Amino acid sequence: MKVINDNNCSWINDLNARTNIKVLTTNKNCDWLIIGAGYTGLSAARKLGQLYPNQNIILVDAQLAGEGASSRNSGYLVDTTLNDGFTSNKELENYKKKTDIYKLGIDTVKKFIKEHQVDCEWNECGKYFASSAIEDKNILINFSETLSKLGFENNLLYKDQLIKRLGTSFYNLALHTKGGILLHPGKLVRAMIDTLPNNVQLFEKSSLLDWKKNNDIVSCNFKNGNITTKKIIFATNGYLKSLGIKTNYNFPITLTASMTRALTDEEFKSIGEPKEWGVLPVKPMGATIRMTKDRRILIRNTAEVHNPFKMSQSDLDKRSIKQRIGIKKRFPQLPEDIIKSSWSGIVSRTRNSSQIFEKIDYNIFVAGCYNGSGIGVGTLFGEQIAIKASNEQTKEIETIEARKKPTWLPPQPFLDLGIKTRLIYERIRARSEI
Ligand SMILES: Cc1cc2nc3c(=O)[nH]c(=O)nc-3n(C[C@H](O)[C@H](O)[C@H](O)COP(=O)(O)OP(=O)(O)OC[C@H]3O[C@@H](n4cnc5c(N)ncnc54)[C@H](O)[C@@H]3O)c2cc1C
Repeated sequence: MKVINDNNCSWINDLNARTNIKVLTTNKNCDWLIIGAGYTGLSAARKLGQLYPNQNIILVDAQLAGEGASSRNSGYLVDTTLNDGFTSNKELENYKKKTDIYKLGIDTVKKFIKEHQVDCEWNECGKYFASSAIEDKNILINFSETLSKLGFENNLLYKDQLIKRLGTSFYNLALHTKGGILLHPGKLVRAMIDTLPNNVQLFEKSSLLDWKKNNDIVSCNFKNGNITTKKIIFATNGYLKSLGIKTNYNFPITLTASMTRALTDEEFKSIGEPKEWGVLPVKPMGATIRMTKDRRILIRNTAEVHNPFKMSQSDLDKRSIKQRIGIKKRFPQLPEDIIKSSWSGIVSRTRNSSQIFEKIDYNIFVAGCYNGSGIGVGTLFGEQIAIKASNEQTKEIETIEARKKPTWLPPQPFLDLGIKTRLIYERIRARSEI
C-alpha cells in the first residue's frame, strides 16, 4: 500500500521545500540497499557511504526522505524515560541497559551535528515528567530514586515552581531531569539528507511493494523498477510488519500532534514569558507538551491502533480538537483557534518495549522499534546496523545487544484486541492528563 501523509506538519513546513527529488524509474543493481530514509536509514546510509566509498549504495523511501515520523515527532532527544507505554522497566539493571543505549544515541547525534555544523535548535534544557494528579507523587519519588542511583541529576518540583517555569498552573508536581535535549526534528533529519555521502543514491516516492531472497541475492520490486542487491537493511520502523519483517514481534501505533502559531508578545506575557521547556507525562497516555524557543506550543495526546498508511482529514480534525482542549486546559487565556497545524505519525512498538536490531538472514538486516526515543536510538542503530552488516563488532553493538530481545506477540485478532484494551485502560488512567 502507498503511504499517504498529510501536509500539515509545522516542523516540515518550517523548512524550504526540497528540490532534485529522484523517483526510481528503472531497474538497478547495488551492493547495499536500505529501505526507509528516516533517522535509521539515513544514518545507515551515511555510515555505509563512509565505510565503502567505492561501492554502490541505494537508499529508497516511499515518501519524501525524512518526512515520516523522523520529522513528525516531538523533538525530545532523551537520556531517560519514565515508561514506554506498555511496560515500565522496574528493575534497575534493565533500566540501566536502556539508559546506556540512550546515552550512546545522544553521543551519536551530538557527533553528527558537530561534524556537520548542524543548526537544529539544540537546547540542553532537560525535561519535566509532570502530573496534575497529587497521587502520582509516589511514582515520581520512586523514579527519582532510580535516577539518583544511576547518577542522573533530578529535582522534584511543586506547583508554585512549575507555574513560574512552565507558565501554566495545570501541573501539581514534576520531576525535572537535567539531561536530555530539545531540538527541531525536521532540521535534524534534513541535515542528514543534505550530508549524505556522494556514493549514496537516494530514490524517493518509491514504495517497496514486495521482496524476495534468491540464493544470496535480494530482489526488490517497486512500482516502476526492480533493485537487486547483495545486502539489504530494513529501516522502515512502523512499516516493518507490512513488509513481512519480524511480524510476530512488532506492531505500528499511530500518534497525532498539533502545534500552535507563535504566541504574540501579549499572549506570551500572559503566561509569564517562560524559557523553552518540554513536559512528558507521568502516565503513558497523558500529553507530551512543549514550549519551543520561538514561542510555539506543541502537544501530542493520542496513541492508537489505526491504518498506518493514511489518516483522513476528518479523522485528523477530530484528534486536533483533543489537542485544542489539551492546550485550553493548560493555557485557558490563549485563544481557541491558536493551532496552526496537526499531523499524524507512525511509530513501531514491541511487547516488552525492547528494540529490534538484528540480522534476520544471511544478508538481511533490520533496525527499529524505538517508541519515543527514535531520534537518538534510531540514529545510533542506523550507524551500528551498517557496521554489523559489515561483519564488524563495536562496543556500541555490545551495549545494544545486551538488552532483552523483543518478546513474541499473539496472532490477530488477539493482538489488536489486546493492544486496544490496553490503550483504553491507559487512557482511562491518564484521563486528567490528556
Ligand atoms: C507524534 C510523534 C512524536 C514522537 N516524539 C518523539 C520524541 O520526542 N523523541 C523521540 O526520540 N522519538 C519520538 N517519536 C518517535 C520517532 O519519531 C521515531 O522513533 C523515529 O522517527 C524512527 O525513525 P526511523 O528512521 O526508524 O523511522 P521513520 O522516521 O518512520 O522512517 C521510516 C521510513 O520508511 C519509509 N517506508 C515505509 N514503508 C516503506 C516502503 N514499503 N518502501 C519504502 N520506504 C518505506 C517511510 O516512508 C519512512 O520515511 C515520535 C513519533 C511521533 C509520530
